[in-house]
Amino acid sequence: MEKWPIGVFASIDAGLGVKLSVVRELGIPTIQLHAPSRQVRTPEGAREFLDRLREIDVRLTAVFGGFEGESYADIPTVERTVGLIPRETRAARSAEMREIAEFAKLLGVDVVALHLGFVPRDTVDPLWNEAIKVTRELCDHCRGNRQALHLETGQEDADTLVRFITAVERDNLFVNFDPANMILYGSGEPIAALRKVGRWVRSVHCKDAKWAANPGKEWGQEVALGDGDVGFENYLRTLDEIGYTGPLTIEREIPQDPTRQMVEIGRAVRLLNQLKAKLAG
Ligand code: MG
Repeated sequence: MEKWPIGVFASIDAGLGVKLSVVRELGIPTIQLHAPSRQVRTPEGAREFLDRLREIDVRLTAVFGGFEGESYADIPTVERTVGLIPRETRAARSAEMREIAEFAKLLGVDVVALHLGFVPRDTVDPLWNEAIKVTRELCDHCRGNRQALHLETGQEDADTLVRFITAVERDNLFVNFDPANMILYGSGEPIAALRKVGRWVRSVHCKDAKWAANPGKEWGQEVALGDGDVGFENYLRTLDEIGYTGPLTIEREIPQDPTRQMVEIGRAVRLLNQLKAKLAG
């Protein structure tokens, strides 16, 4: 397989990704998919989607879980509502994640991913052991499908993430690295973080952001790729350093403005291709 094929985060009927028409329009060869709603997660839904992918010659590399009731309004709201950490929704969401893994299997995809939610920094926090337990259960379910589970980065700093993955003790648990999230959440300088979690990185997002005035207290700002503080040449050099050769999956989370989203993703594709050429030459 070609090194670093371009990808984009896509959605059918749920999530912040682009539509397949945009993927085709921009000639992007791979996608990660935000899991569609339950009505679509059927054998027929999978068949139809695979037919559509074949038609436009696109390879699906990962399926991302997301849940009703999640809100990214501000950092405390994320902590309260996102992923498998909040107790009130944990059982139902774990069950839904297993259904999403089954749907991914119908699609022939061996990577399932999600925002786990805020893993506590303090291992004495009771949520630490609860997070380990729920992650183990999900890893074990995925193993039954010969799938890996990738944790999206950002909510915790790299040291906490390494400590957590090590504590889970499952060899199908990996990282989907998102450099912009490190900036948005104020959880650490992305390049240094990438080096720390490098050995677990099996998929990545290419998304850019600017630091907040008070990182970790308020959101940074997501911006078009190349306009933020990630530094994409340095990012690609570091991906090379850690031996990552998989897809470069672009994310631009402005579904409310699809025209701008498409223009900016088109620009991101060109920028990444230029950088790939520069680094190869
Ligand atoms: Mg991301």
